Amino acid sequence: MPSPLLQATAARSRPPHQLLVPTVADRESPPPDSGQVAGWRQPGGRRAGNDSTAEISSSRGSMFRRLLSTAAAARRPPPIRVALTESSGRGVFATRPIAAGELLHSAQPLVSHPSRSLLHEVCYSCLRRRNGGSGGDGDDSSGSCYFCGDACREHAKGFRNIEKNADWSLFDEHCSSRGLKYPYMVKRLACMVISGAVSADCLDILQPAHLHQGTLTEMEEEFELLDDIFRKAGFQEEVTTFLTREWYINVLARIRINAFRIELVATSYEDLLSSAVALVACDAAVGNAVYMLPSFYNHDCDPNTHIVWLETADARLKALCDIEEGEELRICYIDASMDVDARQKILADGFGFQCRCLRCLSGD
Ligand SMILES: [Zn+2]
Ligand SMILES: [Zn+2]
Repeated sequence: MPSPLLQATAARSRPPHQLLVPTVADRESPPPDSGQVAGWRQPGGRRAGNDSTAEISSSRGSMFRRLLSTAAAARRPPPIRVALTESSGRGVFATRPIAAGELLHSAQPLVSHPSRSLLHEVCYSCLRRRNGGSGGDGDDSSGSCYFCGDACREHAKGFRNIEKNADWSLFDEHCSSRGLKYPYMVKRLACMVISGAVSADCLDILQPAHLHQGTLTEMEEEFELLDDIFRKAGFQEEVTTFLTREWYINVLARIRINAFRIELVATSYEDLLSSAVALVACDAAVGNAVYMLPSFYNHDCDPNTHIVWLETADARLKALCDIEEGEELRICYIDASMDVDARQKILADGFGFQCRCLRCLSGD
């Protein structure tokens, strides 16, 4: 069996998602709190509730054993592969039996961005929440954002140096007046490409959203704005040749459908080991991020897998129940506690597909 990455690469030219319907979501049309891919939220009484009850009562001794076995598991390749499904494009499958609660793998964002209103409360690089309120230590020298430490400051240096050389006030005004969040991710990606940190085609592997003409017109407007800002900042054409209208739209179309809203749910590694993590009340989203492997998971309204974030935008994929070898691993893109009609509407509007999972077919 080829490696997951080879298969994922091969899947780039696959036929379009067969469940996609031709109607297309309006620009950022999903309701801000439900239409976007978010960590599966505890829908009460479903699987996570059941297994967490068992794990909450576990002793510290068994916690420690789990810690060791999780650490050992982390050294092994993840028990998953990416392959084509029968009806939903590519998907992620178990390569061996997986136990409920097992940590499958973690993933770092390809690109992320904090929520616009949290630039002084959330690390500009890893999205970690600031301890002890805003102001003071950790603010960027420009005072416009916060870094949780030197490692993040260093990690962000490339795109930050590019960004600092331009005046973003018009872009910020444009996005904030319209409540847009994804253009900030495209802006960051553009700065990352100019700095040489990533290649301009690094998101091409992800599936794009289908776009309305109206959406395209809005995107073109944003592109003109972004392009103009780089031009006015005096960037040489040779470093911005990738920055075309087509590039902007291609990237944004992928970010729209693949971005996860990051809700940090835990503050320690031990929390991760407990399935109770799904029960911890979520703060509001700290930002958005796009990943490669987590983007290959298909949706199910009664998922067997869960995506969680602890302190940073690094994602963890975790089994919610026992999973058999060869079974497809699916996450829930939306709030699973909604009724079937609400789920179908959000999935169609926001993600462009009709859900035919067992739960939806049963009308639950
Ligand atoms: Zn950080
Ligand atoms: Zn469903």
